[in-house]
Parts: sequence; structure tokens; C-alpha cells
Amino acid sequence: MNPKREFTCINCPLSCTVTVSPGEAGLTVSGHECRRGEEYALQEYTDPRRVLTGTVAVDGAALPRLPVKTDGPIPKTLVREAAAALSRIKVRAPVRCGEIIVANFAGSGSNLVATRDLGPDLDL
Ligand code: SF4
Repeated sequence: MNPKREFTCINCPLSCTVTVSPGEAGLTVSGHECRRGEEYALQEYTDPRRVLTGTVAVDGAALPRLPVKTDGPIPKTLVREAAAALSRIKVRAPVRCGEIIVANFAGSGSNLVATRDLGPDLDL
């Protein structure tokens, strides 16, 4: 059985300390002031996820790097591997904001997408 864990809820400035405790009847959550904190702590306890942001190399553009992010939160256990994979990607300009750079990035179920337009000039 996993141990009891505490999380600081990041959903509002109150920053409640929320505790998730395993027990015979399942997980018990305490310390939250609202349902968002309960959901946040349960997600962090059972399946923590993060949106990955970074840059990839781009050819033929006014800038050497294209900013990218995953279009959804990916399992935290995949973040290191996915971040390392960014260094192996090179795209060709022009690229549109929102364009999928890699579908199902690192097997995460989320796509890697461009977060800005980029072409030979700063604006397309
Ligand atoms: S549990 Fe609710 S009130 Fe507390 S920090 Fe999270 S969102 Fe804010």
C-alpha cells in the first residue's frame, strides 16, 4: 500500500495542504477547502501529469528554435524521456501556431504542437 502523502493545491492562492491517505476502504482526502483540491490531490496521488514545454530546432526560419508544448498533460513518468526527445526533432519552416509537430508524442497520447507562427520572417 502506498504511504500517506501531502500536496499543496495549486488551483488558487489559498494553497491548501491536502492529504491523501490510503485505507482499507480506499483513498481518503482531507485538508481541502473545495472539490478542486480533492480532485487535484487524487490526480497527483494516482496519476501525476504535466504539460511539457520546450523548443525544437527549425530550419529556414528567422529564429533557430521553435517553441512547442504538449497539447495535454502527459504522465510525469514520461516527462524526462519526452524532454530528451525534443533535442532530436528538427522541423522546416514555415510552421503555424497549433500545428502538430509529433503526434502521440513519446507515446503519451498527447501531441507536440507549435506555440507560435514561425517562418523566414518573424511573422508569416
Ligand atoms: S482546495 Fe480549493 S480553496 Fe484550497 S487551494 Fe485548492 S482550489 Fe483553493
